Amino acid sequence: MPQYTGRFAPSPTGPLHFGSLLAALASYLDARASDGRWLVRMEDIDPPREMPGAASLILRQLEAHGLVWDGPVLYQSQRAARYESVITRLLEQGDAYYCRCSRSDLKAMGGTYDGRCRGRGLPRRGNALRVQVPPGTDIDFEDIFQGAQHSALDRDVGDFVVLRRDGYYAYQLAVAVDDADQGVSHVIRGSDLLDSTFRQRFLLERLGWVPPVYGHIPVAVNRQGQKLSKQNLARSLNSHKPEQNLYQALEALGIPASVECGGMDAQGLLAWAVGRWRRDCVPGGLAIPAPEDT
Ligand code: GLU
Repeated sequence: MPQYTGRFAPSPTGPLHFGSLLAALASYLDARASDGRWLVRMEDIDPPREMPGAASLILRQLEAHGLVWDGPVLYQSQRAARYESVITRLLEQGDAYYCRCSRSDLKAMGGTYDGRCRGRGLPRRGNALRVQVPPGTDIDFEDIFQGAQHSALDRDVGDFVVLRRDGYYAYQLAVAVDDADQGVSHVIRGSDLLDSTFRQRFLLERLGWVPPVYGHIPVAVNRQGQKLSKQNLARSLNSHKPEQNLYQALEALGIPASVECGGMDAQGLLAWAVGRWRRDCVPGGLAIPAPEDT
């Protein structure tokens, strides 16, 4: 097994847009420049938010941009048995409990869960499962792009949900388990997920698994400063002009195209970019403006 395993983990809530291309491309380039594997994992564990057909559309968009992954795509929707076994373990370790509090209860607590359901012995049915964050839990890590990171997790977040009241597995749980099971050594993704990293690292620690190295690249924002997303109507990546999309994404990641690139197809461009990828060329900060036409 190579030392480096990277991944791109889209949620099939809609097609890829320029912002998702940046995350896919940065994780791809970082992996390939380290002679590593690059996996694609479909994070289809939230059916109410998903768009029919988006998963296969995303895979076709990646292929059209020359972003070819290693091995089979892992679908989180097929991993329920594994998530259940981890939930059982957290319960057996005394690290988790069922909670009946609603979102508005949490809001009334100021956004940090105060642990009021801890001793209640509630059943699973109709309740969420929270993992317990003991007082004094400090999570520190060094982010490749954003530098030193710190969270006093018990005060910043408090006990957090790993199984939702509606019965779906929480993103934090599924990602932590899958990154560990897939042997992911490096997680390169958008800075909008930086906050989640503290929870994912905490879970990995509780389960006795070594956390990956994390790197959060700036997210692409529109003129109003909003992250490109389906909600603010970011345009779907046009698979008929992959080279142009790649030029723009490479430029945003600090690799402006040069005359050598003229006439290259998507795969040629990617191979060219792998040789030029340098982590310290990626612009600093949490956000970068998206090109006008995206
Ligand atoms: N599925 C998540 C998303 O599309 C990303 C998960 C991750 O990279 O950890 O926002």
